[in-house]
Amino acid sequence: MSPSFLRTSLTSLLGGKTASVLTKALGLTTVEDLLRHYPRRYAERAELTPLSTLVDGERVTVLAEIRKVTVRPMRQRRGTILEAVVTDGTDVMSLTFFNQKWREHDFTVGRRGLFAGQVSTFRGVRQLAHPEFKLFPDGVEDDAQAVAAFAGALIPIYPAAGAITTWQIQSAVGVLLDQLPELPDPLPDDVLARLGMCSLTDALRLVHRPSSRADADRAIERLRFEEAFTLQVVLALRRAEVMALPATRRVPATSPLLTAFDARLPFTLTEGQRAVAETIEHDLGNSHPMHRLLQGDVGSGKTVVALRAMLLVVDAGGQAALLAPTEVLAAQHYRSITGLLGPLAGRGQLGGAEVATRVALLTGSQRSAQRRRELLEIVSGEAGIVVGTHALIQENVDFHDLALVVVDEQHRFGVEQRAALAAKARDGSRPHVLVMTATPIPRTVAMTVFGDVDVSTLTELPAGRVPVTTHVVVRQEHPAHVARAWQRVREEAAQGHRVFVVCPRIADDDAAHEDTPDLEVPDEDAPAVEMAGVVPLARQLSDGELAGLRVGVLHGRMSADDKEDVMRRFADAGNADGIDVLVSTTVIEVGVDVGQATMMVIMDADRFGISQLHQLRGRVGRAGLPGLCLLVTSAEPGSPARRRLEAVASTTDGFALSALDLELRREGDVLGSMQSGLRSSLRLLEVSRHEDVILAARAAALEVVGADPGLAEHPALADAVAVLRSDEHAEFLEKA
Ligand code: ADP
Ligand code: MG
Repeated sequence: MSPSFLRTSLTSLLGGKTASVLTKALGLTTVEDLLRHYPRRYAERAELTPLSTLVDGERVTVLAEIRKVTVRPMRQRRGTILEAVVTDGTDVMSLTFFNQKWREHDFTVGRRGLFAGQVSTFRGVRQLAHPEFKLFPDGVEDDAQAVAAFAGALIPIYPAAGAITTWQIQSAVGVLLDQLPELPDPLPDDVLARLGMCSLTDALRLVHRPSSRADADRAIERLRFEEAFTLQVVLALRRAEVMALPATRRVPATSPLLTAFDARLPFTLTEGQRAVAETIEHDLGNSHPMHRLLQGDVGSGKTVVALRAMLLVVDAGGQAALLAPTEVLAAQHYRSITGLLGPLAGRGQLGGAEVATRVALLTGSQRSAQRRRELLEIVSGEAGIVVGTHALIQENVDFHDLALVVVDEQHRFGVEQRAALAAKARDGSRPHVLVMTATPIPRTVAMTVFGDVDVSTLTELPAGRVPVTTHVVVRQEHPAHVARAWQRVREEAAQGHRVFVVCPRIADDDAAHEDTPDLEVPDEDAPAVEMAGVVPLARQLSDGELAGLRVGVLHGRMSADDKEDVMRRFADAGNADGIDVLVSTTVIEVGVDVGQATMMVIMDADRFGISQLHQLRGRVGRAGLPGLCLLVTSAEPGSPARRRLEAVASTTDGFALSALDLELRREGDVLGSMQSGLRSSLRLLEVSRHEDVILAARAAALEVVGADPGLAEHPALADAVAVLRSDEHAEFLEKA
């Protein structure tokens, strides 16, 4: 049988009218679309839906029993109202129909059925006005189709929408199932046999028409595995393709620059840093590009590891680019790299070391003369290291010989960006890529979202780092604690320490949050109080609570020069124009490294996500000084927002927090950085819940792709993979 049954249009099997309803309501166009529109749950005829759980406004399908039927004339107009009271045995609900007196005959007391509509409350009684319904057969006059549809003990309840009901979907699916041929199976026979799973054909039958829960579970297990497996095959293939790309091996005969750098380092590398450095060195010696993700908690020392890799490729005659997500961070990286390198960055300059290189900085706001100078150093190869924002790779920047790209603090460095890199290296070869992230990624997410890259993890913090102490400060419960917080800020400043104050927005009237794109969607339970804004709060503090201290402001609407200036004054508070307290948005979130910063106050902390808060507080206590973080909130006790904050306060383990974050977030958000073509293929698989499935699928996928990279032996799999990749490709083109 050809795979074309699944690709057949719904129109040709169901007729234009039904097909167009399915397309309009649910976006389904092919047989496969509909067969993979799996039931959301199964209702049991013997088991009534608990009516007390229904929420006003919700669209529901309930299974209930008719208890009472009345017909009365309408008061204001001509016509009748038929009211059927249905029950789950405990609670009741009212169904109202206008001018349908004739239905009285069908609505016999004791009869059960499915009722679908939008829940509302009228005079204290829960109701469905004008619901769609399907009564279960109970007499000779019932139509044969209904008898067949509801004969089983389990009734599938489909995700329905708009003008279509679950039983209409069920009946359309039924038409397809009745002519379902034996389908070619994307899961290889030996994989199926080894895992004891049923065939695709059986799984589709059972998921839509189970005769028992066990049937449905078996089908779902197989279909879920198939999703994980196909995705892992796509990732394994993509990885194999990367391995087949050409890259220049970067193995220096001698490494004078790196050796001189190591000799300068004021500390010894941790065990973990050494191990990762070795792995990267090995990767750089390959003739295919490295694609490695380096993850490690804030302050675990990723930057030093990355810098060593950059120096290695410079020693090998190539160039390295370091891309940061914001200009502030690019400028800071530039400062800290030139600082760490000292005379090693002073090539051609007075006092520069003999083995020295140069570090170029490219930002969007540079004056053109400056920019031209930097570009010249980059194209001539004079600059061994180039620091800039992510825009660097999109722009027309020519490198002499780009060997390594390090991407800082960015998950979203996907397929597209990698493609853009192709144009940057010489002779069609690709640069090696190292992505650093401080948001620890749980294993399952790494395997799903980053399934085609290698992952290295720094698990220990360098010795001497003191974990940050975090407290939740609740405005309405303890107003005195807020006052005490500002007092504490004064004490820190008096000791020559620096303090961050973070706000969720810039100004009072600020709808845009432009530089805080990751701001949490406000929870339903988020308090309606005014959110703190950088500008008004800074004014309030310097006139009041923090009068006499030097209070600075930093946010995304400032020019790059101003931002840079403020950061410098904050870093060198010892100077006459120094800043003690920096009130800012989350522009300081990632990577900002001011050693003397010991305290952070996060206003309206409930507006930020768990990972973001963890990142933010990583900015303090970096130089061996104990750090303090206060999460100021108005969130109610017991609310999800409050629980998030309490979790952040209770541990400094970034991995534990990211696992929690994963549990609390919506699946779509978790997979946010993934191409949506791949993402939307996941209907049953949840990354946060199905680790075992992902592990098994990955192992099987690697085996299959390893043995048969062209998938010649697996035409149905090749087919499924092609569909997935073309969705992904289409999305890429759309964006480009
Ligand atoms: P990350 O980029 O992972 O947040 P950094 O590389 O910026 O961390 O390192 C944080 C701080 O720790 C920096 O000041 C850095 O110089 C310092 N550091 C890095 N590695 C070590 C080490 N092995 N021992 C002591 N300090 C270190
Ligand atoms: Mg860093």
